[in-house]
Amino acid sequence: MPADLITARLDLALRVGASRLSGPDARHEAEHLLLHVLGRDRAWLFAHGDDPLPEREAAAFDALLGRRIAGEPLAYLLGRRGFWTLDLQVSPATLIPRPETERLVELALERLPEARALRVADLGTGSGAIALALASERPLAQVVATDLSEDALRLARSNAHAHGLANVVFRRGSWLAPLAGERFDLIASNPPYIADGDPHLVQGDLRFEPPTALSSGADGLDAIREIVAAAPAHLLPGGWLLLEHGWDQGEAIRALLAGSDFIDVATVADLEERDRVTLGRVTEAQDASR
Ligand code: GLN
Repeated sequence: MPADLITARLDLALRVGASRLSGPDARHEAEHLLLHVLGRDRAWLFAHGDDPLPEREAAAFDALLGRRIAGEPLAYLLGRRGFWTLDLQVSPATLIPRPETERLVELALERLPEARALRVADLGTGSGAIALALASERPLAQVVATDLSEDALRLARSNAHAHGLANVVFRRGSWLAPLAGERFDLIASNPPYIADGDPHLVQGDLRFEPPTALSSGADGLDAIREIVAAAPAHLLPGGWLLLEHGWDQGEAIRALLAGSDFIDVATVADLEERDRVTLGRVTEAQDASR
């Protein structure tokens, strides 16, 4: 039993937790974990710093601190992560949504006029982050989200439900396979793009995330090659494809898009000025036979 926690007042327990975690975010993370255990918010804690931490909650807080120290991502311990304007449930069945992916959402929204009924697809939706952000900003759009993982789809559906987003449907399957015979105004994806065996896969949060959401072949581009090859047949004339990728993959992906009939191909950097999203569109005068 954590002796330094069970007898503590909440404000002291928070200090103990922060000192155990160490690092720049220690205080903030300890607070999130304590609030999670208590089922309270910050305002409540602020007013109740003198309250004692009950024994059961002390044990639960202690256990979460131990798991965080062992490296488990905060988002998995809390079961939640904010993305765009949405509070999303996350689980080890899905990638934890990243702030970088909000750049992809912005670029997609710039290409999705508000006043029109549009068709949008999100491939490998995971927690539903991209699909739900787009669905929330474009209520007239019909969004189709695919994923190979039934567990991921269950979570994504639950996130859609929690946010009252009825304009998204979820389909199980690989990339564009569940979209046979359908065309879209815009297809977006944050697919796995890390090379198999990359040393980053055994560091930090990535150790705990699903490998299939992270890595994709010897150069990391297997999923992207598959998506780029199949996308033109699923785009309406002038339709856009947007792909998130690693900082050093822009050139290779621009070449893939250019070689697959895309025009206006460009790579856009994220807030840290690293190449992050490559996009292109098919021509207006599209060959109806493909
Ligand atoms: N589309 C989800 C996200 O951006 C999942 C991405 C993935 O698993 N590679 O968070």
